[in-house]
Amino acid sequence: MSNIYSGFNKIYTFLLDLFFPVKCLGCGQYGEIICLPCAKEIAKIKTLTCPDCGRISECGRYCKACKNRQKDLVLSGVVVSARYDAGPVKEMIHHLKYSGFVSLSDHLGELICQQIITQFRNSDFVVVPVPLHISRKNRRGFNQSELIAKYVSNKLHLPGGDALIRQRDTKPQVELPRAKRLTNLENAFSCQDPDLILGRRVLLVDDVATTGATLNECAKALKDAGAREVWGAVVAKNI
Ligand SMILES: [Zn+2]
Ligand SMILES: [Zn+2]
Repeated sequence: MSNIYSGFNKIYTFLLDLFFPVKCLGCGQYGEIICLPCAKEIAKIKTLTCPDCGRISECGRYCKACKNRQKDLVLSGVVVSARYDAGPVKEMIHHLKYSGFVSLSDHLGELICQQIITQFRNSDFVVVPVPLHISRKNRRGFNQSELIAKYVSNKLHLPGGDALIRQRDTKPQVELPRAKRLTNLENAFSCQDPDLILGRRVLLVDDVATTGATLNECAKALKDAGAREVWGAVVAKNI
């Protein structure tokens, strides 16, 4: 039933796009999904910080103190491109995920590309998206992180693919108290393509990050399968 509905939704969105010109998400003007003046309102992050304590850190690497405090932290750091709570980014992510404006994934992927080029002298990454559980992906019709990761991989000429699968349909992390967030994710991910990531530095792409717990659980599965290093790359985060 949900598949038929999401198929119908896609046709409906397609027809809407065909007969009604697109309006800008920021200002409502007809033309592009995000117009140039509104795109300039995106609050890009210039100085990256430790994802946990907020101290300034190179490329968004976890600082020593935060790394020492958490023994199971395997993620090297999180590269954040923009603020979630300022400018039109929140709207863009929302419309991509829940209204199916898939062309927004290019705009959001571009933000990640710009940040990677600015922050890393050597970007020899393999690009891997944070997976959705298959039932959720079928309901939505796509995985937004996969679309963003594909853009990044094409634009930066980096290898990439769906190296991870989500084995359990976990509850969204934001709906859970902090204590339950870690057990919620236990063994949720596994690597289905170890050849792709073996001995490589992985750029793990997601739309938003809250605590970084999801990224770290994905990083564990990738490292267990032989990845050398794993970095998170998210479009936005509440700072
Ligand atoms: Zn606009
Ligand atoms: Zn720190």
